[in-house]
Formats: sequence, structure tokens, C-alpha cells
Amino acid sequence: MAKTFKKIGILTSGGDAPGMNAEIRAVVRKAKEYGIDVIGIDGGYKGLMDDKLIELDQRTVSNVIQKGGTMLHSIRCPEFASPEGMEKALDTLKKYGIEALVAIGGDGTFRGATDLSRHGIPTVGLTGTIDNDITATDYTVGFDTAMNSVINAVDQLRDTAESHQMCMIVEVMGRDCGEIALMSGIASGAAAVVIPEVPFDEAYAVQHLKELRASGKRNLLVIVSEGVKTADGTMYGEHLLGVLKANGVDARFVRLGHLVRGGNPTLRDRLTASRMGAMGVDLLVEGKSDLVVVELEGKLQPIEINYALVLDRMYKGKLKDGDLDAFIPEQIEKMKATCAAKKAEIEKLYRLSQDLSK
Ligand code: ADP
Repeated sequence: MAKTFKKIGILTSGGDAPGMNAEIRAVVRKAKEYGIDVIGIDGGYKGLMDDKLIELDQRTVSNVIQKGGTMLHSIRCPEFASPEGMEKALDTLKKYGIEALVAIGGDGTFRGATDLSRHGIPTVGLTGTIDNDITATDYTVGFDTAMNSVINAVDQLRDTAESHQMCMIVEVMGRDCGEIALMSGIASGAAAVVIPEVPFDEAYAVQHLKELRASGKRNLLVIVSEGVKTADGTMYGEHLLGVLKANGVDARFVRLGHLVRGGNPTLRDRLTASRMGAMGVDLLVEGKSDLVVVELEGKLQPIEINYALVLDRMYKGKLKDGDLDAFIPEQIEKMKATCAAKKAEIEKLYRLSQDLSK
């Protein structure tokens, strides 16, 4: 049933991602079309607990669509997950008449949003994470910009690798998800890609790199996801540096780190952010709640936050007792099929990265 709001809130939480500002802008402008005021919460759930509020209107979100980071800032706040934290947040919402909330971030952010909805606050989640690590969506806002930042950096490193006949081992962000490394590895013409999802055959890779060098290939690029570590916790890229040097390959290790978190969002991210932001407001006005806007096969659609969170845990092998109790067998089968399809797609792309690295 359609719902009339006077005032809604918006926050960004978790790691920042290019495109978050475009999402904020879209939410504010779309809400204003409905005559709804938007209050920005400065510093994620921490700002909500501490009354850090900013009034937003069409002009305060001018000149941000092209900017990386988040104009509403983000502070990680474990306290929000406690009953006391929730109480403080609910007090703030009540005090300022904020009737619903748009929360932008990743799975932690959505957990917070679903908690709020259980306390009677309509919520909608929008993706904002460079990692593309939310199983329920094919795409998260920020992913494209991050991958483009990686390929631009790797293109520059390739110049020196080619000139000096060098191997560049480039570590990229992504937490436990190897998608940034895999996609940008293919797109930058890497000789090898190392990701958490597919076991890495080190002996084969070393042999492969040596053969490429022997065949006359001067630049050797290896893209390593930060999610891969050795048994003793060493970052895999640093470990591989030692292995390659011991095998007579002149190698360097480069950690791109936060360099790929910032920067102006690409068209893909601005457009997706704008569409997701507008849909988030539409959903609230339609009287819906506890949803996250996802992109599946190019189409935006809402799904239940709990479905997204449980699907994610299934994919990552982290299901908790009782997780599946809320779902009917057809939904569980659908989750399993989604996980299998995603794994198969990653493996297919990994094989492609190998086939094209000869
Ligand atoms: P992301 O949203 O990118 O996954 P985090 O995991 O850091 O980032 O989560 C962002 C914020 O969401 C946290 O700082 C916290 O305030 C809130 N949050 C995370 N987990 C929970 C939870 N289980 N319950 C309620 N709120 C949570």
C-alpha cells in the first residue's frame, strides 16, 4: 500500500565507494519529487546514534555526482549492533521525525537496516562497495570504477615491466572476493591471476611465467586479490615475490590498496547509482520495506534483505543454524542454484584468464 512520508533519512556505512554520492543525490532529488524531505546522517549508524544530521535538498547534492567518497562520511560502528545502540538510533529518528531510512553500503550496512525495520522503521538498502561481494546482486555500485582504477594503474606498471623485463605482482582490494582481481586481471592482460575462489597452482604459475619469459614476453603481470594469504597469514602477493625471486624472475610487489577505492565514478557507477537511488525511494513510497535494490541480468529489482544476507552466507559457506528456517524449499533451491551459477561463472572467467595469458 502506498505510504506518505514527510521526512526520510539517508546514510552511507561501511567502506566508501565511488558512486555513493550519486546515490545520495538520486535519493534526495527523487524524494523531493514526492514532496519528501531528506535528512542526511553524517557518519553512518554512528551519526544516527549521535544525532549528526544534515538537511539535504536539491542544491546540497549539486556538484557531487562526479565525486568519489561519500559526502555523508562513513564511520564503522559495532555499537550499533547492540540493543543500546539501536535504542539511541531509534531515539534520534523519533526526535527528528525521520520516518524511513535509505542505507547505502554492504552486507553489514544491510544487517543494520534490517534490524531497524524490525523495530518498525521502513528501510531500503542500496549497494555501495567496490568489492562486488554481495551474492544477491550481479553488481555493486563502485565496482566498475575500482576495476578501471586497477587497469589504469596496471597499464602504467606495464610500461616499466616491458622496458625492464620485469614481473609486476599487483595486489588489489576486494576483501574475500576475487572479482576485482579476476576481471581487471583479464582486462589488463595479466599473465596470472590469484583469487580466493579458485585454488592457485603455484608450481604451474612459476613454470608458466618462466616459459613466457623464455618465449620472449618481456612484461609479466600478476594480479593478486588481497583475500589470498598463505597458511601463516602472509599476504600471498608478498609470498609470491620471494618465490619468483628464488626462481630467478626479476619481480616487484605493488600494493594498490586504497588507491582503487577513490576517484570519480565511471558512467556505469553513476548510472547504476542514479537508478538504484530512485528505485529505493519508489519502494518506500510504495509502502515496501526491508529490501535491497539489486541488479540481476541487467535489470534492477528489490529483494528481501534477509534473503540477500542468507544467500551470501550460503555462498561463502558461512550459514548459521536456523538461517534457512525462514525460507520455503523453492527459495532454498533457488539460493543453491544462484550459488552454483556464480561459482561456475567465476571458474569460467578464471579459465579464460589462463587461456588468454599464453
Ligand atoms: P559493509 O556495509 O561494507 O559490509 P561493515 O560490515 O563495516 O561494512 O558494516 C557497516 C556498519 O553496519 C557497521 O559499522 C555497523 O554499524 C553496522 N552493522 C554491521 N553488522 C551489523 C549487525 N550484525 N547488526 C546491526 N548493524 C550492523
